[in-house]
Amino acid sequence: MTTQWKPDTHAAAHGIGKDPTFRSVSPPLYLSANYAWPSAHEKPALDYSRTNNPSRNNLEAALCELEGAARCIVTSSGMSAVNLLLCLLEPGDRVLAPHDCYGGTYRLLNSRVEQGWFEVDFVDQNDEQAYQAALARKPKIVFIETPSNPLLRLVDVRKAAAEAKAVGAIVAADNTFLSPARQQPLNLGCDVVFHSTTKFINGHSDVVGGAVLTADETLGESLAWWANNIGATGAPFDSFLTLRGLRTLFARIDRQEATAQTIARTLSDDPRISRIHYPGLETHPGYEIAQRQQSGPGSLMSFELSPDLDVGAFIQALELFTLAPSLGGFESLICLPAAMVHGGMSAEARATAGLGDTLVRVSVGLEHPEDLLNDLHAALAQVERKAA
Ligand SMILES: *Cc1c(COP(=O)(O)O)cnc(C)c1O
Repeated sequence: MTTQWKPDTHAAAHGIGKDPTFRSVSPPLYLSANYAWPSAHEKPALDYSRTNNPSRNNLEAALCELEGAARCIVTSSGMSAVNLLLCLLEPGDRVLAPHDCYGGTYRLLNSRVEQGWFEVDFVDQNDEQAYQAALARKPKIVFIETPSNPLLRLVDVRKAAAEAKAVGAIVAADNTFLSPARQQPLNLGCDVVFHSTTKFINGHSDVVGGAVLTADETLGESLAWWANNIGATGAPFDSFLTLRGLRTLFARIDRQEATAQTIARTLSDDPRISRIHYPGLETHPGYEIAQRQQSGPGSLMSFELSPDLDVGAFIQALELFTLAPSLGGFESLICLPAAMVHGGMSAEARATAGLGDTLVRVSVGLEHPEDLLNDLHAALAQVERKAA
């Protein structure tokens, strides 16, 4: 029955009024680490919370509905979601990852390569020749991350996934930057979608968490086995809070995206901004791809000030944009990715990825759009006076 619901409805209504004990409207939080067995020979479905927990299961079921997945494993962080996927690899296997993937993913892959666990090719997936050359080396897992962090580069997921599957790879998409409210990689042909739920899905900047979802039941089963084996599953309280955050995902994204559109349009006409990266602008190189595979451009953007302006002073002059890593929360944030979140990449790798030292990334929150624009304009005026 419930499968006819729109995703927004699943987010709002999943598990409401379904508590079997007291019919509590909001699903209860089960903190218990273990569950009583009826007898020594009858293992119950709920046994031990590393394996199964009602509050975590609830979040997993809701996320399955939103991504159109057969299985979901909620993990303790986005990085533990990536790490869980690496459990599928055996010595000698190869991984193909975007050259501008999330800094933490880049660091994890690289450090395992240094330990000799597997091989990795970091490739610009928009460079058809480089992508095909790396696929010819038969990777076991191909990671896709679109839009990319922090340049908002887009990859044609349908095309990249089909090509990777043709060489037998498992295709896993990091959907953190858009959430299922704007992009559903499994519907675009990926085998796996994963998240840092720390970002949009929880959306309140008070939980670190992750999730891995699979289209296929068998692959999901195998990952669930590994998650239990290595202890990567998320905590019940975190799952409870994340489901609470998920309730408002669609409403938050609608508003944050509308504000981001306004800000991006305004900044793109401003002579004090030299470059802006936002998939909702017709000038963005991935605009067409965004129209095809996303249901909206999202609420993240990055830009560079004109070179005569002091970016550090600009950031300090802002009142409403907090200087902090992370993104996707209700609060507007700004960061300098090269210094703050891509420290795990060498200067050379950053240069290859086109990640300049003065690029700023902005995550647009739920504040009133006029207040945010006024704040940006006031800070720009301040650094302009200094430069004059
Ligand atoms: C934050 C982030 C991660 C890592 O998630 P954590 O919850 O911080 O461990 C992975 N991928 C992307 C795109 C992210 O933004």
